[in-house]
Amino acid sequence: TDGQQSAAASSAPAAKPMTATDIKVNVSIPEAAERAASTGADGVGLLRMEHMVLSTNETPAHYVANHGEAAFVSTLTDGMRTVAEAFYPRPVRIRTLDAPTDEFRQLEGGTDEPVEHNPMLGYRGIRRSLDEPETFRLQLRAFRKLYEMGYDNVELLFPLVVDGDDVRQARAQMEAVGIDPDQRDWGVMVETPASALCAEELCDAGVDFVSFGTNDLTQYTLAVDRNNGAVADRYDALHPAVVRLIRETIATCRERGVATSICGQAASKPAMIRELVEAGITSVSVNVDAVHDAQQEAKRVEQHLILDAVRE
Ligand code: PEP
Ligand code: MG
Repeated sequence: TDGQQSAAASSAPAAKPMTATDIKVNVSIPEAAERAASTGADGVGLLRMEHMVLSTNETPAHYVANHGEAAFVSTLTDGMRTVAEAFYPRPVRIRTLDAPTDEFRQLEGGTDEPVEHNPMLGYRGIRRSLDEPETFRLQLRAFRKLYEMGYDNVELLFPLVVDGDDVRQARAQMEAVGIDPDQRDWGVMVETPASALCAEELCDAGVDFVSFGTNDLTQYTLAVDRNNGAVADRYDALHPAVVRLIRETIATCRERGVATSICGQAASKPAMIRELVEAGITSVSVNVDAVHDAQQEAKRVEQHLILDAVRE
């Protein structure tokens, strides 16, 4: 085992190489948790809350109006708990809602969603949560319930932040529902160029970690819509501009003792693993099928780094 996090895991993880970089797994839906846990990953780097909502086939507003707030909170708590349980005590990072309005429009109640010219630049992520604090606090109440149940392995992640102001407001909402930010591990996605450039401010706002969302960071940095086939050949997560934003953010965070991770699709690319392990990233989170290869690649890079250091 890797000694620290997975040694005491309730499920028996597969044999894995020891790496200084934690290799975690992204979990799509709670039903996928057991299989993901059996890979021996060091935890969950990303569980998206919106998938628990999309599976109800109702928008959050529609769900709350029809079934009540408590039922909405329970739906979220149940989904999160399945994953937290499968991985306990390995850490499980869960992100608050981040579905763009065009996805919510597909659901029951979707006709009440705003129609946006460009949903990817619009009403989603932390900006929507801060604008609709009642719904945001229901999400946070689901986290509080898990903490009360003893799932101290659950970590809270906020999407699409732009600057320290977003982080401070999110933090205030945690406090408003009775979650003590100093007692819990929480952090933010770095998936806008602004957030990477404001890394110092994010750290000062008290985050324990940042997680690079390269799916969005690539589209916003290169101005290439991630869902537009006409420009798909220009979509390159390893573009020097994207890599530079990530590397500089890692350096800033390391100086301040803030952990860094990557959970976008590009985390599975060996070249990205090489770049980021070299830069000193704390953890890498990949899809379930890529865990083994990511472990091997991180181990290879780490061994080269050690050899280079010895030879110097
Ligand atoms: C990302 O942007 O890289 C990310 C992991 O978030 P999502 O794919 O949900 O936007
Ligand atoms: Mg994203």
